[in-house]
Amino acid sequence: MQRARSASGSDQRCDLLIAGGGVVGLWMARLASDQGLSVVLVDAGAIGAGASGGILGALMPHAPERWNGKKQFQFEALLSLEPAIACLETETGLSTGYGRIGRLMPLGDQRQLERAREREDDAARNWQGDGRNFHWTVHSSATENEWLVPDAAPAGVVFDDLSARLDPRRLCAALRTSLEARPNVSMIEHDGLRHWQASKAELASGAVVMADRLAVTAGHESFPLLSALFPLPAELGMPVKGQAALLDARCDPGQPLIFDDGVYIVPHADGSVAIGSTSENSFDAPFSTDAQLDGLLDRAHALCPRLADAPVIERWAGLRPRAIGRDPLVDLVPGDTKTVIATGGFKITLGIAHAMAKAALDRLLGRPVELPESFSIDYHLAKTARIKR
Ligand SMILES: Cc1cc2nc3c(=O)[nH]c(=O)nc-3n(C[C@H](O)[C@H](O)[C@H](O)COP(=O)(O)OP(=O)(O)OC[C@H]3O[C@@H](n4cnc5c(N)ncnc54)[C@H](O)[C@@H]3O)c2cc1C
Repeated sequence: MQRARSASGSDQRCDLLIAGGGVVGLWMARLASDQGLSVVLVDAGAIGAGASGGILGALMPHAPERWNGKKQFQFEALLSLEPAIACLETETGLSTGYGRIGRLMPLGDQRQLERAREREDDAARNWQGDGRNFHWTVHSSATENEWLVPDAAPAGVVFDDLSARLDPRRLCAALRTSLEARPNVSMIEHDGLRHWQASKAELASGAVVMADRLAVTAGHESFPLLSALFPLPAELGMPVKGQAALLDARCDPGQPLIFDDGVYIVPHADGSVAIGSTSENSFDAPFSTDAQLDGLLDRAHALCPRLADAPVIERWAGLRPRAIGRDPLVDLVPGDTKTVIATGGFKITLGIAHAMAKAALDRLLGRPVELPESFSIDYHLAKTARIKR
């Protein structure tokens, strides 16, 4: 692992400095390196140890109705992730635990069943691309098996064949390994970006990196960082805490993931099962778990009674980046065509990080890129103004 040389020595120089080594920053470093740019990736902590170092790894599409730019962006990202992962795994020889296993969503009553049925056509219309069609299929009763218990789905169940999962830690490890092998990438850990002006970046240690361009991919810490670096009228987002648990369930890794009213049950490639997640806007202890996670486990056991006996291997908490307008934030900083921000993927980042990184990089390099207006800094600033009123 490299360190930037101090300001008194000769400084490190690069085409692109990336501040933040979570999934977004790691994908961006990989893409930029592919394009021949020299990259320095700096992280205030350990690379892949922020929100991206979690255990859940659900890749779930937005519901197929009321289609908009954000949903289309995510859909295309979920499709392009598959070949991107295949390429990464081939290059590194490392598995990310990726699998398109689909998703079951239990239906509680007749109204939910009717609404779910309306969405079948929406999916047929909107979930198609790359010559593939994905489906949202409603069954009026859950099949009797050892996975989702029929009692938990009194009005039936939806199955979609678009959802997938991966192991976030394995993904970060594979991305990191791919970067370590590249001569045009260097990584610096435990030394975050503190100051940026006129192509000169100063890190917390006082070390200096000279860079033509800067990408801020610091997860939830992007929001205060950006406000510290640029005169923005308001902070653009906040952290939302989440808690999750990993079970030694020895289950069939091909079972679909289950989603029910905020509870995720995600079977992983190694037979473990992750349960998530709480969603906490206010919290005292960002990285510890508590009784809220126990409540989540109880709800998961009610959906999948066979998990009740599975030992808990790990309880984990982290902070998701949530932009003020709820949509991701991918944009050039106003008045500075050399700095881009890419964060705010909130609960869906793992499935769109590579696409956020690509769009941000394209913006930074002056290439045409179409993004939903709701991903722009202006959109999120307008939301802060509305919230204050
Ligand atoms: C319990 C839980 C469950 C989740 N489940 C899912 C899921 O199933 N599916 C999904 O898609 N998403 C999920 N998420 C959300 C997802 O994990 C995050 O949105 C995503 O990892 C954010 O990635 P990131 O790269 O933006 O930020 P991070 O992974 O947080 O990375 C940011 C990095 O920036 C570094 N940094 C901070 N300040 C600086 C600085 N000044 N200079 C340099 N570096 C800095 C940090 O040290 C960190 O390593 C979950 C999150 C939680 C908490």
